[in-house]
Amino acid sequence: MGLDIRVSKLEGILAAAKKAVVVSHHSPDGDAVGSTVACGLYLAQRGVAVTLVLPGAMPDNLNFLSPAEHPILIHENTPEAVEAAIAAADTIICLDFSGLSRTEYLEQPLRESRAVKVLIDHHASQETEPFAEVIATREVSSASELLFWILMRMSDVAGDAKRLPIRCLEALYTGMMTDTNNFANSVFPSTFEMASALIAAGVDKARLYQQIFNVFSESRMRLMGYLLKDKMTLVPEYGAAFMVLSEAEKQSYDYRPGDSEGFVNLPLSIASVRISALFTETPEGYIRVSLRSKIGTDVNSLARDYFNGGGHVNAAGGRLHIPVDAVAAYFLDSLKKHFGR
Ligand code: 5GP
Ligand code: MN
Repeated sequence: MGLDIRVSKLEGILAAAKKAVVVSHHSPDGDAVGSTVACGLYLAQRGVAVTLVLPGAMPDNLNFLSPAEHPILIHENTPEAVEAAIAAADTIICLDFSGLSRTEYLEQPLRESRAVKVLIDHHASQETEPFAEVIATREVSSASELLFWILMRMSDVAGDAKRLPIRCLEALYTGMMTDTNNFANSVFPSTFEMASALIAAGVDKARLYQQIFNVFSESRMRLMGYLLKDKMTLVPEYGAAFMVLSEAEKQSYDYRPGDSEGFVNLPLSIASVRISALFTETPEGYIRVSLRSKIGTDVNSLARDYFNGGGHVNAAGGRLHIPVDAVAAYFLDSLKKHFGR
């Protein structure tokens, strides 16, 4: 992957950095938050004045990662503070997305900033024009894993994970663990090597698992049951299953950001299902699309062609600007057009 050359360029960029912003995508998942926090804590250890930024709210179960000394700023909550930090930054590190449009309302401020921008990502292809340096590969589990291998090559770390703050190591482990669904998907030999190094350096994996996967509300569990029992629709001709979740339903189950994380994976445990889709209406009125597939079926191209998105072969997403009650027919039509028959 030519990582050594890229890391030496990054090292040059960081050597000149005084004020940095670290940012990831809207609707952040564990990899987005984990890589942002880990990168921020590393930069802080180097003496860089760093601001951690996310475009929108993050799931409650990831709040514990936000460092007390460098709390994550959410653009939707404090737009002035975030935009001031971006305008003042000389260096911006972007993590876990393939293009600035994934930052939604931050896209414009980020494009306008004259800071040196670096992208660290693990998707299929990246926007390159805004970035001084793009470090990307698909041969890793997560942006957090790629960041781990980058940090291990930095001269102040020199392959010794113990030279990184423990909170940084925990954040990296969290990003890897959540993006692989606890070692179920996208796991490479390097992923286990990373996990091994992190555990040897003091990461308490059992505590992290507990803190991330076993802290949801009763209403989230009930919502999952409701979706599976009453909302999951199978489309046997295409080996597909889909669920549509409206704003009204979310409200009746006290929905919190991140509550539906993982739901889209559940129908794949049915033998005959090879594609699963979850459509979630947002307060803004558009539909968030989440797609998953079994090995041998590509949902990345489905997301690109019909859902204004993309992602990975077996996990992709996007959005639709149609009414929630038109979603089922649109999905069926996309299956017909994309997979034929
Ligand atoms: P999720 O279903 O967990 O929200 O997203 C799965 C994957 O799809 C993400 O890791 C990301 O790569 C991709 N993805 C999700 N939403 C979008 C989107 O709006 N645009 C693009 N290009 N990719 C997305
Ligand atoms: Mn990721």
